[in-house]
Amino acid sequence: MDEATFAKWSRKAADWGAAYRASLRDRPVRAQTAPGDITAEIPASPPQTGESMEAIFADFEKIIVPGMTHWQHPRFFAYFPANAAPVSVVAEYLVTAMAAQCMLWQTSPAATELETRVLDWLRQAIGLPGGFAGVIQDSASSATLSAVLVMRERALAWNGNKAGLSANPRLRVYSSDQVHTSIDRAIWVSGVGEDNLVRIPVQGEHRSMDCAALEAAILRDKAAGYVPAGVIACTGGTSTGACDNIADVVRVARAHDLYVHVDAAWAGSAMICEEFRPLWAGVEEADSVVFNPHKWLGAQFDCSAHFIRSPDDLVRTLAIKPEYLKTHGKDGIINYSEWTVPLGRRFRALKLWFLLRFHGLEGLKGMIRNHVAWAETLAERLGREDGFEIVTKPIFSLFSFRHLGSGDLDAHNLALVNAINDDGRIYLTQTRVDGRVVIRFQAGQFDMTEQDADTAFEVITEIANSLGAARR
Ligand SMILES: *Cc1c(COP(=O)(O)O)cnc(C)c1O
Repeated sequence: MDEATFAKWSRKAADWGAAYRASLRDRPVRAQTAPGDITAEIPASPPQTGESMEAIFADFEKIIVPGMTHWQHPRFFAYFPANAAPVSVVAEYLVTAMAAQCMLWQTSPAATELETRVLDWLRQAIGLPGGFAGVIQDSASSATLSAVLVMRERALAWNGNKAGLSANPRLRVYSSDQVHTSIDRAIWVSGVGEDNLVRIPVQGEHRSMDCAALEAAILRDKAAGYVPAGVIACTGGTSTGACDNIADVVRVARAHDLYVHVDAAWAGSAMICEEFRPLWAGVEEADSVVFNPHKWLGAQFDCSAHFIRSPDDLVRTLAIKPEYLKTHGKDGIINYSEWTVPLGRRFRALKLWFLLRFHGLEGLKGMIRNHVAWAETLAERLGREDGFEIVTKPIFSLFSFRHLGSGDLDAHNLALVNAINDDGRIYLTQTRVDGRVVIRFQAGQFDMTEQDADTAFEVITEIANSLGAARR
């Protein structure tokens, strides 16, 4: 592609992106596509000769866009948000154009040094003490895997990587049953094994780990000859926003010299607002904390902020230094690839820098406070409505509800969430609470307004009533 053509299509892509964002309210949030619809439109074999950009771009608009679920839609209330604020998209255009591999300091000093700076901005923004150092991981899953590997190596006197797990005693890791499946996978991949992930029951409104049960489990395991390695706590669990009592978890863990990792992938963004910090009180004593600016905060995916108290332990666990990767003669430099499982690294700090500078912490706090307030108002309105039950109250901006129709309530609520998503004006997902199907609502999309929450209320009540459900 020559320079002029590259410039032309880059401008076209930027204009398309802006028009797309402006058009979102007129599109159904979830793709209204059947399985195989898109595959049927794509030739089964690759082109032998090059095609024109006009043809490629036209097919993008005709075939691909209708098969997209619109995560930047202001009425996206499903899962958790994956916000890409426009300013972070602009930064990503630049990163994509430069396309640097930022694995070592010398492979892009600006990327490394900016990462150190903006992660320290974020650390201050969420109220973590100065003892934490930050690194950007591609996802919370990777951060949690790294933390579990550190737990493992620490508990095995740094002998696991070398001798393998078969040469070592059996490890134990503890978490509640409210944690994300990325914890299960970290346990699988690290070789600790699912049978050694001990699930501690939860209690109370926030579904937090019962720390007396945690301590009892650790003592039982020690007596049985296992080696307890660490605890994974959560702030803002995926299903209903469960929050462990981090201070209690840390107290028990410290008494037994266990490593503590806190998964706050979604809710960590809210901690830029001081009033939410009681929900993770004690986090300043944890060893490792992850949160995803690529969820609520507005940094385009991927951008996971991982804070650790001892980077030395992380580097000792993950760094391999073959001769061709060494940077000779530069002292005190950071090679962030030694802090993560993958070697190659995108320049992810730039979008954070653009985002934090353009919106300022005040701007981002305002967004988060609005989301929490609108979710609370919607929960109150739905709770007052005949035939609706709030199953879990809002934690941050997430609550769950069910509609009390006739017959099998699980089937009825699944039918309701499907009908709502087929309608397209809003997008919701379901989960299970104490075995029952419930519908989740989270407010978190960057461009959401109060009117969008009102629309959610109208759509939910209108479709529930149209399903012909029996009134209470
Ligand atoms: C989204 C989420 C994850 C997984 O995040 P990735 O960055 O996609 O790996 C883990 N834990 C919690 C609580 C989450 O909400």
